[in-house]
Parts: sequence; C-alpha cells; structure tokens
Amino acid sequence: MKAVVSLNSGSSSIKFSLFVLDGEGALRLSAGGKIEKIGIAPTVTARSVEGGVLLERAWPDGATLAHADLLADLFAWAGDHPLEGQEIIAIGHRVVHGGTEFAAPRLVDTALLEKLEALCPLAPLHQPHNLAAIRAIAALRPELPQVACFDTAFHHDKPDIASRFAIPRALHDQGIRRYGFHGLSYEYIVRRLAEIDPALADGRVIAAHLGNGASLCAMQAGKSVDTTMGFTALDGLMMGTRCGSIDPGVVLHLQAQLGMSPAEIEDLFYKKSGLLGVSGISSDMRTLAASDAPEAAEAIDLFACRAAREVAALATSLGGIDGIVFTAGIGENDADIRSRICSRLAWLGVRIDELANVGNCPRISMPDSPVAVLVIPTDEERMIALHTLNVLGNALGAVA
Ligand code: ADP
Repeated sequence: MKAVVSLNSGSSSIKFSLFVLDGEGALRLSAGGKIEKIGIAPTVTARSVEGGVLLERAWPDGATLAHADLLADLFAWAGDHPLEGQEIIAIGHRVVHGGTEFAAPRLVDTALLEKLEALCPLAPLHQPHNLAAIRAIAALRPELPQVACFDTAFHHDKPDIASRFAIPRALHDQGIRRYGFHGLSYEYIVRRLAEIDPALADGRVIAAHLGNGASLCAMQAGKSVDTTMGFTALDGLMMGTRCGSIDPGVVLHLQAQLGMSPAEIEDLFYKKSGLLGVSGISSDMRTLAASDAPEAAEAIDLFACRAAREVAALATSLGGIDGIVFTAGIGENDADIRSRICSRLAWLGVRIDELANVGNCPRISMPDSPVAVLVIPTDEERMIALHTLNVLGNALGAVA
C-alpha cells in the first residue's frame, strides 16, 4: 500500500505521521511518533494508530545526535521493519516560512531549498530545523519526492493592509511585513468547518489556534483576511513561553538600559515569557490550572483577556463575526479558557452553552447565539499529507 509521511521538525523535536492511501484514494492514519529532546538526551517513540508501540529508543544524556543522525536512525529502523508492506512514496514537511513568493506547497529541489534558506533570518528558531530535515532525507533517500508545506501560505493573499506595519515603505518592500503563521492548521479547520457547517464556513469566522504557540485568524469565506501573528511567530497572543505583542519600546529599553544582547532578548521573548514568564511556574496550561498560586491565576487571566481582545480586533477586520472556532491543545480541551474568552465577548453576541462547552462538543454556543462557537480538533499532519499527495499528483500527472 502506498504511504505518505508528514514531518514537523522543531528545534528539539521531530513529529512524524504515516498515512496510507486506501483503495478510494483517501488518507488513513497508520502510525505516528516523535523524536524528542534532540541535543539533550534524545528519545524516539512510534505507535500504530491502534496505540501499539512500534519503536521506543532512548539515548543517554549528552548524546550529540543531530536531527540528521536521528532521522537516519529512524529510516534505518523503517527499512528493517517494513510497515505491513507500506511503501513510502513521498515526505511532506511543515516549513514555517514561505516568504512573499510561495502561496502554495512546492516540490523540493535545490533551487527551492536555496530560496527557503534565504528566509532563515525571518524564522531563526524554526526554519533551519525544517530545512535540516529536508536535507537529511535528501541525503538518505535522494529518489524520494519531498514537498514543502508553508505555514505562511494560507495568509499569502490577505489584503495588503493586513500585511503592513506602519514603517517606511522601503522596509516593507524588503520583506519586513506581517506574514502570519499556523496556516496549515487554519486550512484544515476551513475544510472541517465546510463539512460541519457549510453556511458558516462561507461567512465571517475567527479561528483560535490556542496551543503552546497561539494565534487567531480572521477568515471570510475560508480565506485569511487578517491574523495575529506578524513578521515572526512572536506577535499577537500571549503563548506558552512567547510574549505576543509587546511595545517595541520595551526592546529598546532592554538593549539600551539593561544591556541585553539580541540573543538574550530573543531567548527572553521566545522561551521565558508568556504563561511561563507571568506565572513563574510553567508554560503548560494544565499545570497552571492545577496550581493555587495567584501568579498562575493571573497568567491564565491575562491569556484569556489578551485572546478576547484580539478576537474583538479581528472582528473589526471582518466587519462583524458569524462564528468562532477553537482549536489546538488549549482550544480543543480547556473549557475554562473558552468560557473566559467567550464571556468577555458577550457584548459581541457570543453566548455559549456551558454544558456543551464542558463536553468539548463541536457546537458550544446557545442555539440563539448570534455568533456560533465551535470546537474543532486540528490536524496539521493530515493537511501536510493531503498537500503532499496533491503536489505529487500534479507533478506526476496523476496519483495512483
Ligand atoms: P503545540 O502543538 O503548539 O506544542 P499543543 O497544541 O499540544 O501545543 O498545546 C499544548 C497546550 O495545550 C499546553 O498548554 C497544554 O497544557 C494544553 N492542553 C493540552 N491538553 C489539555 C487539556 N486536556 N486541558 C487543558 N489544557 C490542555
């Protein structure tokens, strides 16, 4: 059976999913797993969709294995353990930045890799790891087609006004503009919403991707009109460890008065801020919810308050809203956060049914709420696999 692998490579982890093509050409998840703690004490786990452990491996503290070494190990294992005759025909990658040029997924070749390499300064914590995985696989299996799926692509055609910072035009022209991210997640939400409620999918919807990284996207008829992340994945909402929107004067102060270097400021804003920074306890929403500390309560309150404020801002970009969709780790599971955000938006006509909310039901709004509120689990891996098949089909003229 033919299969497609989705890869999502971060700084210290690589998530992978294996989808098989069934008789009708639909994708069925077959297995998935994670390489974690890269650079510290790497572990690899893979499970079948039924939950059976396929692979479990751990290296000791200080093992200096890079992304490429661990992917080579995974491929060697896959080569020795053919997954019930599944034949991998392509690998799809999440690539965080497609810049101004790429509005759709692309088949990887040397020229594309060079262009994507040039975008590394725009996403220094993500892009290099995305490309390292592509390079590692090209070296291991040069014949295997690889497809780059961009997190920015979904926002590529948003109105110019949603792409500009109020800075001199020359800087915008050299790429200092609002790109937006989490596009693969939003694309998947659009597909699912069209199945669940086609009329709503055709209207004005704000999707709230609330995970460790968090952003909102304002969509009109399934197209991105505005979004909270901007030039980098730091902008917008408060996140697990990222600060979200911040007065640029703070950056100047940290540099000029506190003598912090660019690397220290980067570390502060990406890794030590957000829920972690405000609570001083954890970046994990579940840990904070279980804590009695007032700092944890304040961090949760700030998270919800900032999210609600940004929903209201995006409602203006849309000229009103017909629906809100919550997704990702917090959005899909945390009824308390959804309730806090929605109650702050009551003036916009948002009224949720608390019973349905606690049940994480697809529709959590009251029947007479002018704004529909839904919970839809996202699946970026499936979106990558779908794009990969599609690009492959276009490249080959047909998909088997
Ligand atoms: P990412 O993919 O960006 O790493 P996730 O989408 O997995 O992040 O989201 C992680 C966040 O979701 C964490 O803050 C975690 O506490 C929260 N989360 C996951 N499951 C639950 C749950 N059942 N209840 C509340 N929060 C949850």
